[in-house]
Amino acid sequence: MQASRRFSGPSDLHLHSTHSDGTEAPAELMSAAHRHGLRTVALTDHDTTSGWAEAAEAATSLGMTLLPGMELSARHEWRSVHVLAYLFDPDHPALRAMTDRIRSSRLDRARVMADRIARDYDLVWDDILAQTIDGATVGRPHIADALIARGLVRDRAEAFSGILSPRGDYYVALYAPDPVTAVELVVAAGGVAIIAHPAGRAGLLPERLTERMLHAGLGGFELDHRENLPGGRETLARLCRERDLIVTGSSDYHGVGKPNLPGENTTADAMVARLIDSASGSTPVYP
Ligand code: AMP
Ligand code: ZN
Ligand code: FE
Ligand code: FE
Repeated sequence: MQASRRFSGPSDLHLHSTHSDGTEAPAELMSAAHRHGLRTVALTDHDTTSGWAEAAEAATSLGMTLLPGMELSARHEWRSVHVLAYLFDPDHPALRAMTDRIRSSRLDRARVMADRIARDYDLVWDDILAQTIDGATVGRPHIADALIARGLVRDRAEAFSGILSPRGDYYVALYAPDPVTAVELVVAAGGVAIIAHPAGRAGLLPERLTERMLHAGLGGFELDHRENLPGGRETLARLCRERDLIVTGSSDYHGVGKPNLPGENTTADAMVARLIDSASGSTPVYP
């Protein structure tokens, strides 16, 4: 029997914990997923694997299967591209070096943004630290939470459309590799790379770049995600059929940080099985 036959659905392959910008610790997150009826989940914190151990223990004790994962930051020109990575070797040196570099640059960038914001608002760096656990991947959501705690905005959405907007005076871009490099690193580490929310408001990535990512071993696209728009989604669905790519669906749950709920989109069993069978860097954690 193939290893992949041991999991069961429903499966939600995109969830965030306090190890990045989710608001629940991995164990709490696994409980939330279980309450929402999920039986297979992936932890996909931004640029870190530090939540895997806690998530694995919690998931298996609840009878769920965990696919260890990550959402790797990449960038194409001005736009951020998120590469979901599954079942890779967390100790792969080049991938580790890249995530270390991204996380440390995220910290510097958050500090610069905080300094800029502090010129106009009553906010100090400690406010942001108070919103993050030690070693977490720091992002704009933590600055948003600090602004909420100070009573300067109502919620993360308001912070993102105002003070934290890329078009505003306080925004600083983060260091991130180009998407082809990101895919190459995930594949080199034995993982499966899937482009997250590929049909959002920024539009589809250029075809040439998509071809280069496929050439680098890109596995597929997260077609069922609330941020995808119908037109782009259909175009990519056609591509996935033509090239026989992996198609996933997921919630991108961030605890109370976003309205997304566990299981609001799920991935078909056949696709989860393909994903598991395509990976060689690490194995699912079964109950
Ligand atoms: P950063 O990577 O630091 O630039 O921040 C981007 C992260 O913020 C993404 O991972 C999103 O999950 C989160 N995010 C983006 N827009 C919003 C929003 N309107 N409300 C809540 N979270 C958001
Ligand atoms: Zn996030
Ligand atoms: Fe994302
Ligand atoms: Fe995400």
